[in-house]
Amino acid sequence: MPDKLEFQLSIYPDPVLRKVAAPVEAFDDDLAATVAAMFDRMYASSGVGLAAPQVGLGRRILVLNPTGEPADELALVNVSIVDRSGPEVSFEEGCLSFPGIYADVRRPERCKVQAFSVTGEPIEREFDDFTSRIVQHEYDHLEGVLLVDRMSPADKQRHKAALEELVERYRDGLRRTSAPQRR
Ligand code: ZN
Repeated sequence: MPDKLEFQLSIYPDPVLRKVAAPVEAFDDDLAATVAAMFDRMYASSGVGLAAPQVGLGRRILVLNPTGEPADELALVNVSIVDRSGPEVSFEEGCLSFPGIYADVRRPERCKVQAFSVTGEPIEREFDDFTSRIVQHEYDHLEGVLLVDRMSPADKQRHKAALEELVERYRDGLRRTSAPQRR
């Protein structure tokens, strides 16, 4: 048995978060293992949704669970949003790639998606309220669009120090992993 797949979160400003994700081509065991490990990461991080770029994978996969109940678990592969409708509503969003940062984001209330299940069956579904919010947020990740792009200029200013700290932490991480160890 190979080791169980385990993912770490990609945190802003990791460049993987800015790439447009590519379609999944094979609905195979690797995909199933990837999706399972994405759910593990999402639950372990107390999230309600996670997109593949957030675990360093440039693939059009997202997982969500708006309630935490097993029956509400949903994985969407090669997902596209084919319609958005309803009034624009403002709601405070967080993001596992922006720890500690929350900001109001305006989005249409409903969305309709076409996607495939992890085993390749076509899915067509409409979402509203909180689930629609999660789907639209996670879908943004597949297009390289982030919470920081969606927040108002006032919120961006309010979170300036926190965002700069994330940038600093990311650079520190790069230095630690790329520099030769010295004592
Ligand atoms: Zn996010």
